[in-house]
Amino acid sequence: MASKNDRSAWLKGGTAQCACETALAGPDQPRRFVLLGAPGVGKGTQAELLSQNLGACQLSTGDIFRAAKSLDPCDRTPALEAALGYMKRGELVPDETVLNLIRERVGCLRCGGGFLLDGFPRTVAQAEALAQLLAGEGIKMDAVLSYDLPMEQIVSRLSGRRTCSQCKAVFHVTTKPSKVEGVCDHCSGALSIREDDRPEAIRVRMEAYHKSTAPLADYYRRKGLLVEIPAAGAPEEIYARTMTALAAKPA
Ligand code: AMP
Repeated sequence: MASKNDRSAWLKGGTAQCACETALAGPDQPRRFVLLGAPGVGKGTQAELLSQNLGACQLSTGDIFRAAKSLDPCDRTPALEAALGYMKRGELVPDETVLNLIRERVGCLRCGGGFLLDGFPRTVAQAEALAQLLAGEGIKMDAVLSYDLPMEQIVSRLSGRRTCSQCKAVFHVTTKPSKVEGVCDHCSGALSIREDDRPEAIRVRMEAYHKSTAPLADYYRRKGLLVEIPAAGAPEEIYARTMTALAAKPA
């Protein structure tokens, strides 16, 4: 299993470089996927498992915004500052802000280790911009992995999620509790509820998902890229289902 990739180039942008060697060595055949699905469906967990097994980096746009939160406010651009407000309310960040961040990180799409885009694209306009960027770079995506789960289960996953304030490890009050309530198993940091996992923000995120992101499934189905995966069950089961579905996808 490959070790967790350093994602400095993605999280920091600009001239930041990753410390891991994936970009230099790269697997024989870099894998490139978009992960699609409602917030809370388990994309992040699947991205981690795919990353460990395939070596490709998890490129989450939500992680860029969460990393920006810990920056000194003077180091945040006005667009990034505004983006944090959208995120806190559970609304989508405007396409232009997101696309500027992606263009600034196009090197991560070129990375010899491949990529796992998690949380991007989230609108058809973002998907079209991504298609243009990849075509310009001569890069082909392998597939779009679309995870699906009934809405009640999604809301339960989101409202029970607890995140470590230090190492960002994710727990769940019933399905993956920490050994000591409120304390991270890995670094003893305090566990808290993400601002956008609070009930009002969850409602806004679900609305944004249905209005803007759900249409992407049809968009990618028409392009022959969509691979649909039921997301009920344990992470390892869903991962195995992902591999089976990928193996069955016509080339
Ligand atoms: P996530 O961790 O992917 O659920 O993202 C957390 C929040 O970041 C979202 O609720 C949005 O406010 C914002 N965000 C992340 N990615 C995007 C995107 N591609 N387009 C618009 N907003 C985004």
